[in-house]
Amino acid sequence: MLCLTLTEDTIQDDLDCIRRNSAYVDLVELRLDTLKDAEIAKAKDVPHLTDKPVILTYRRKSDGGKAQVSEKERLEKLCEIAQGDFAYVDIEGDVKKSELRYEKDGQKFDLETSLRERGVRIIRSYHDFAGLPADLFGRVTKLASKGDIAKVAVTPHSIMDVITLFRIQEEVKDVKEKIVIGMGPWGVCTRILYKKLGSLLSFVTEGSGSGIGQLDARTMKELYRADQVDERTAVYGVIGNPVHHSSSPMIQNLGFHAIHFNAIYVPFLVDNVRSFFKLAEMVHIHGFSVTIPFKRDVLPYLGKISRETKQIGACNTVVHINNMWKGLNTDYYGFLQPLSPMLDKGQIKRALVIGAGGAAQAVSFALRNHDVKVTIVNRTIEHAEQLSRLTMSGYDSLDHINQYSGKVDLVVQTTSVGMVPNEGEDASHGFKFTGSEIAFDLVYKPRETVFLSRAKQAGCRTVGGAQMLLEQGKLQFESFTGYHYPPKVYPEI
Ligand code: NAP
Repeated sequence: MLCLTLTEDTIQDDLDCIRRNSAYVDLVELRLDTLKDAEIAKAKDVPHLTDKPVILTYRRKSDGGKAQVSEKERLEKLCEIAQGDFAYVDIEGDVKKSELRYEKDGQKFDLETSLRERGVRIIRSYHDFAGLPADLFGRVTKLASKGDIAKVAVTPHSIMDVITLFRIQEEVKDVKEKIVIGMGPWGVCTRILYKKLGSLLSFVTEGSGSGIGQLDARTMKELYRADQVDERTAVYGVIGNPVHHSSSPMIQNLGFHAIHFNAIYVPFLVDNVRSFFKLAEMVHIHGFSVTIPFKRDVLPYLGKISRETKQIGACNTVVHINNMWKGLNTDYYGFLQPLSPMLDKGQIKRALVIGAGGAAQAVSFALRNHDVKVTIVNRTIEHAEQLSRLTMSGYDSLDHINQYSGKVDLVVQTTSVGMVPNEGEDASHGFKFTGSEIAFDLVYKPRETVFLSRAKQAGCRTVGGAQMLLEQGKLQFESFTGYHYPPKVYPEI
């Protein structure tokens, strides 16, 4: 189930939020602590104002909530509002039964017993915004001990912590009903793969940026289809650091949906490649993309690598085949794809490659393998020299770039200069386009960089990084699924 957390300050705004997200979620969580004081009294009626089951929560500050009142007042209010027709009521694990006593019509009750008698499910919650408690598995068992739903929302800080969260399913098998949430950037993969963790639900918001890693309802439902995951769903992903900006989930998930392939593609923030391979084996990850800074680091863990990967010394695609991890480099072919008509016709004889990093290495090898004479210009000349030796190219300082104007058929911009948020920058401003060059920028955000717009104004043919990104992604899709990328799918990258 996907559960929309309501954090507006009026009931009406919360109801409007439910209406806007109704198609994406199965239930909602009403948070009393974000409501204005005058609105809290009206909260009892909310279950009658929506067709979604409602979780009632009044979160105190120490658990990440906003309740402004004393603990006694908070619990009194919770007892009062919980008389409404809620499907679930969230009670923190350390709140004692004796703290939830209340009087009604002169009679004394305790909230736990009355909720159980009315068939309302209690969610026993534990929050840790600093990390993972050492006794995490024991806590889950304890929270569920009275037949309640155990909820643990904790904060992983590494892939090892993420592994611990995935182990909950195995370690506390007896607890059938639990909610497991990894908060913060490391926990995003656990929120998307909540069903693989054995979690009953995952919380979502409207729009992104909750600060604790919640995804927006529509992305979770339509892009990830997280609620459709079953035991046969194959898991794929992208590893990087940072990784949450990656367009690859868009490319791969849209492709999976279009061909009805039972698979999900998830971003994994990674600190240590070795730990990630452990997670990959544990979760049975079938394949993954690799982005900065791990393209080299994955190599020692691969049983087999393609010819291009070996030559370039960098791998951007890993697939699990015949019990072995195989490394490929689809950047190589993604780069060549838009140029292949011109290469086939012999229209590219000399090329200038700006930059000498990982991407420049793939580009230089691809061009050299097609008999193009390459000169590498770079800010740090030593890096240009090293790459030129590897690829048998010429090299020069970026400061001398003006000397190559009019002398090359192709200019490839491979540095990160000009990428958002520095879209006004251009590493090659000294180069004057004559109009006869093909200009290729690997930067894909923005779609038209200053480099490309200068080239266009001079009359050059241009190729943007988004095209290469899509081409390399389509090739990854083929390696993952064995099928061609569906022709009518156009991911917005
Ligand atoms: P990298 O290995 O870190 O290399 C960065 C390169 O940029 C180095 O040559 C570096 O020069 C140069 N550079 C950085 N800041 C500079 C500055 N202010 N002025 C001049 N030169 C500067 O990175 P990478 O993996 O090659 O990636 C580079 C870019 O390509 C990124 O923007 C990446 O997103 C993009 N890319 C796109 C695709 C695609 O499919 N479109 C695929 C792969 C990569 P020094 O040697 O002097 O440090």
